[in-house]
Formats: sequence, C-alpha cells, structure tokens
Amino acid sequence: MFLQIKDLAFCYYRSKDYAIKNFNLEIEQGEIISILGESGSGKSTVLRLLSGLETPTSGIIRINNQIMTDDRHFVLPEKRGIGMVFQDYALFPHMTVAENIQFGLKKQTKRDKQQRVDEVLDLVNMAKLKKRYPHELSGGQQQRVALARTLAPKPSLLLLDEPFSNLDADLQIKIRNELKEIIKKTGITSIFVTHDREDSRAIADRIITMRDGAAYEWESICTTRKLEDKRVEVLTP
Ligand code: ADP
Ligand code: MG
Repeated sequence: MFLQIKDLAFCYYRSKDYAIKNFNLEIEQGEIISILGESGSGKSTVLRLLSGLETPTSGIIRINNQIMTDDRHFVLPEKRGIGMVFQDYALFPHMTVAENIQFGLKKQTKRDKQQRVDEVLDLVNMAKLKKRYPHELSGGQQQRVALARTLAPKPSLLLLDEPFSNLDADLQIKIRNELKEIIKKTGITSIFVTHDREDSRAIADRIITMRDGAAYEWESICTTRKLEDKRVEVLTP
C-alpha cells in the first residue's frame, strides 16, 4: 500500500467542531483517487494535512511505509515528496513559463534543470509556449503550466484541489480528459479533490465521498442498489 491514512482527526484553531474526524483511506501505488464532496465537507483540509500544512489532532499518515505524522512524529512539508496543484494556478506573473517551472527545481545543474523543464513542457504539450508570460496564456494553458511546475521535481504523490473551478465548462471537459492522460503517463499516485461528480467520474480510478469531515467509499454506503443509484444516494444525503 502506498498511502495510509488512519483515524485522522483535525480541529482548526479556536474551532469547536472537528473539520476532519474518523477519516480513513488507503491508496495503492499509481492509483488516481477522487475525493468528492460538497463545499465545507473537509476536502481541502485533508490535502493540507497530507502535505503537512496542518498538524492532525490525532491519527496516522503513512506514505511509502514511512510515517509522515502520528502522535510522536511530524515530517516537514518539503520533505514529504508531495506536489500540489491549486484552483488558482498561483503562477509567478513576472516569470516566463519556463522560469515558473524551473523555480521549484533545486540542487541540479543548470543544464539538468533546463532538460527537466523541457521534459515536463512536452508532457503537457506546452513546449512551444515556454517563453510566454502567464498573462499571455489562456486559463487552460495556465493550468497545464501549473501542473508541469508541480510535476517537475518528480513528486511521489500528486494532490489536486479543484483544479478546474476557474475554467469555463467546455474547457473543463477538454482539460479533465487531458489531465487523466498526463497523470496516467507519469504513473504518479494522485488524489483529485472536487465537488463535481462528472469530474470525479472522468478522472478517477476510485471515488471516495466526503461528508462532514469523514470519508465513505461508494460501496460501503449502501449495498443493495446498482452503482449508478449509489452515487446519487451519496450525493443527496
Ligand atoms: P472543502 O474543501 O471541502 O470545501 P474545507 O476543508 O475547506 O472544505 O473546510 C472544512 C471545514 O473546516 C469547513 O467547515 C470550514 O468552514 C472549516 N475551515 C476551513 N478552513 C478553516 C480555517 N482556516 N479556520 C477555521 N475553520 C476552517
Ligand atoms: Mg476546498
């Protein structure tokens, strides 16, 4: 098993309620998982806990058989080998596409960095636009650059937090198919968070539903209905 989250709980500072509780999830190497849930269900918080931006109240996170956090350990975010793509692409406006991607690459010769930049630009089909600035790109192109930048340091786990919410509907459909292809090509284990069930279905190997801070697998919710009904059932509690 590549990733294990066990009995995770988390409460934001000064908040009375748990944002995350009884959260359990196991993921195999190379799987693309989608966490599907309404706004406020705790999806972003799970990603923040995974990447080490927050410390859990209790529970265990293990990646590749190494403890990231439990009641005695905490591995710093930059040591976790996790890459994250956010809904606002957060590209540096004063840097070109190539410079944006190169920015996150450390401890390599200039030549190795440039080679890696070209590799990931090829992967996302943006090689021709490497000298452009973010404002000279469409939303979909910016999103692909953000993905390339995250993939450049070769993370072992890729987290995507509602990466399509700033794209218009037509583009969203095109990009989500592209995204699945790109992720599959890299073989990287990924968790894709969304409130859009069509996005989940298009991209994920397996869908997890979140409600009030806890996770549910489709199958564990109700066993008597057909798959299609189960999905609807989960979405309208
Ligand atoms: P989602 O990403 O599914 O929309 P979030 O993980 O952002 O949900 O939020 C889960 C819960 O935690 C919500 O009730 C939200 O109001 C609360 N929350 C999120 N961020 C903070 C914060 N910085 N401080 C206090 N409460 C927060
Ligand atoms: Mg969120």
